[in-house]
Amino acid sequence: MSTPLIQDIVIVGGGTAGWMAAAALSTVLRGRYRIRVVESDEIGTVGVGEATIPMIQRFNRVVGIDENEFMRETNGSFKLGIEFVNWGRVGDRYMHGFGKLGQDLWTVQFEQYWQRMRKLGRAQPLEQYSIARMASLANKFMPPRTDLGNSPLSEIAYAYHFDASLYARYLRKLSEARGVLRTEGKITHATRRGEGANPGHVDAIVLESGERIAGDLFIDCSGFRGLLIEQTLQTGFEDWTHWLPCDRALAVPCESVAPLTPYTRSTAHRAGWQWRIPLQHRIGNGHVYSSAHISDDEAAATLLANLDGKPLADPRPIRFKTGMRKLAWKENVVAVGLSSGFLEPLESTSIHLIQSAVQQLIDFFPDRGFSATDIAEFNRHSRFHYERIRDFVILHYHLNQRDDSTFWRDCAHMSVPDSLQEKLDLYRSHGRVVRRDNELFAEVGWIQVMEGQNLVPQRHHPLAELQDEQATHEYLEGVRQVIAKCVDFMPDHAAYIAQHCAAK
Ligand code: FAD
Repeated sequence: MSTPLIQDIVIVGGGTAGWMAAAALSTVLRGRYRIRVVESDEIGTVGVGEATIPMIQRFNRVVGIDENEFMRETNGSFKLGIEFVNWGRVGDRYMHGFGKLGQDLWTVQFEQYWQRMRKLGRAQPLEQYSIARMASLANKFMPPRTDLGNSPLSEIAYAYHFDASLYARYLRKLSEARGVLRTEGKITHATRRGEGANPGHVDAIVLESGERIAGDLFIDCSGFRGLLIEQTLQTGFEDWTHWLPCDRALAVPCESVAPLTPYTRSTAHRAGWQWRIPLQHRIGNGHVYSSAHISDDEAAATLLANLDGKPLADPRPIRFKTGMRKLAWKENVVAVGLSSGFLEPLESTSIHLIQSAVQQLIDFFPDRGFSATDIAEFNRHSRFHYERIRDFVILHYHLNQRDDSTFWRDCAHMSVPDSLQEKLDLYRSHGRVVRRDNELFAEVGWIQVMEGQNLVPQRHHPLAELQDEQATHEYLEGVRQVIAKCVDFMPDHAAYIAQHCAAK
């Protein structure tokens, strides 16, 4: 095999992004390239990012992670979805659960029959047809049982909550065992090539100690700083704060309380929202808010007043700006993680965006140099996913009927991106959602949020009318009863963890 042009891969930063990139590349590149992670203990990591979505299972499989070991090492718990409290109106509560709603039968999707029966007063709330929601309410969990045919138990979709610093440590151990080198030190600057081959490319980073680390491909995982992609290459940032005005967070862990819930909770407050992420040894909490609408002191007081257990530290402030880097890949630098952009964690999507970027980098791996076409495709893909997730997050804010603060009134009245407006219009007229080009969130996710936040379509699909009314009613009841029986069968979430993957 001929020697590839790219030999040295330098990963700048060792947070979740840096170590996920290192773990994935060291696995798929099988020792043919030198991979080095450079991180600074003094700077540290952002230290949050503990809730995920089901696609992370694929990442874990690719890098060869054993689920039970991973859960033990990261104090993890299982996640069936996100419960949203106070989002449509104060007092509302719904879940965006993972996996299916109902059971497919006949011609159109389950939700269309449900819409018809709801209008006739013959349907129960949508969540009663979701195993994720019903199991969450009962604090039950088990992974899918593929031997159970077409039972809802064979299709349980789930993700994880974990301790972010333990996850990075776990991935580091795994990566170092696969040959990844680690350098601790603070990077002061990068140097770029002058004339000759690849002018403008970054050729090395320089540490405070004076050490110079050369590379062919640089993966910028330096967090919000964007050390290479922004500070060195000045790529530019597209600001989305006019749609998503929250710009600060306060994070605080608190003591665990029973039961160990298998879901994330997001509770809307006066000018933002609070996350609750249950782990085995503590609960992670944070208040994401708009500094233009409330003070830091008020945000902290709200956070502390809404904890389930005793706080284990003082609230830690984090500042951010929502938006994306204009290019995620420029020259020989690929930005992964917070260096490529930021969307608030309302739907736990940032770690997924890391996974997606790493997957794209693998798909377009530049072993023999850098192709402008490949780079353009990578950037198109990255923008598409950022924009579609942005729309989904905006949906939660925009679709509210709250009248208790200017924050919520402004969100309800703002104009939204055309791509989101089209989705809202389609749903409003016939209850339809169209998933385009493999965007991250499927129909079922959009429907749960739109219904959960009280958007009732004017009509349902005409084909849902063609079935006999009584048969449709029985079909819905049958689904509900099967789900209830399945939930009875499932073990308690805490008991499942105690049996399979309790931290030592
Ligand atoms: P960081 O964790 O900031 O790591 C940056 C790395 O670069 C560090 O190792 C640092 O030492 C190094 N570095 C920086 N500068 C230098 C330098 N000069 N020299 C040497 N090293 C340097 N995502 C989710 O999926 N789910 C969530 O629930 C979630 N919650 C979040 C809540 C908040 C409030 C925020 C802000 C983010 C959240 N995220 C969440 C996003 C998630 O935290 C990040 O996607 C994830 O942690 C990856 O961060 P990172 O590795 O890109 O950056």
